[in-house]
Amino acid sequence: MIENDAFLTAYCCVMAFFIGSVFGSFLHCYAWRTTHGESVMKGRSHCPECNHVLGPIDLIPILSWIFLGGKCRYCGKTVPVKYPISELVLGILSMLIILRFGISLVSLRNLIFAYTLFALTLTDLYDYLIPDTCILIAIINWLVFAFFCYENLVATGFTLLTAILFAACLLGIVLLFDKILGKESMGGGDIKLVFVCALYLGFFGTMFMLILACMIGLIFAVVTRYRKSNENGQFPFGPALALATMIMMLYGEPFIMWYRSLY
Ligand SMILES: [Zn+2]
Repeated sequence: MIENDAFLTAYCCVMAFFIGSVFGSFLHCYAWRTTHGESVMKGRSHCPECNHVLGPIDLIPILSWIFLGGKCRYCGKTVPVKYPISELVLGILSMLIILRFGISLVSLRNLIFAYTLFALTLTDLYDYLIPDTCILIAIINWLVFAFFCYENLVATGFTLLTAILFAACLLGIVLLFDKILGKESMGGGDIKLVFVCALYLGFFGTMFMLILACMIGLIFAVVTRYRKSNENGQFPFGPALALATMIMMLYGEPFIMWYRSLY
């Protein structure tokens, strides 16, 4: 039986990786089109350089890029390494979610949430944009699964209140900073994102996540030396929030247990 379980786990991991990498490719396309003024639904995948429509052979995640030597098959221009990397990242993330939560409804919920976080990370990196569509999908996903995963409606209501509390506190702090600094210190998209993440992480999880996100944001800012900040001095904080949320979702439980045991 143990061998069967090991086989099933390995099989599910491979499937999760494959599905994740396909979504990685699709969501990168979504992010690129959203931030470059193209319709997401209309038109087939094409090379951003020569506009040639891509065939099935060009669209196999990661492998197409490797076999074509990182070049477009039609115009020979270099296809940036960020494309296979985003496919690889979402593939691995999907696998980690399945390993952590097993074959369950919670896994499905967290996979959908991870994909929305991934999409808004890319749009934020491309154009300082956190689309409301991503926020809305994450909220609907949470609501739908709240009825399946949690039988305790009181706990669900408490989580919702927690999320509102975090978003309201953050909004208060941001408005205060805006007044002191005389410019926008944090985008509205980031506040909405904190609200959504709090829905999934709960009170303690969100607390740790915010600390972690600040640390990641700081490291990211130092490493890239603000190269990413635009003329308004804005800095994409969405990726740090998304990464911290994923870390807390996957590995945060022991920290929260430890913290709660102190009281
Ligand atoms: Zn091309």
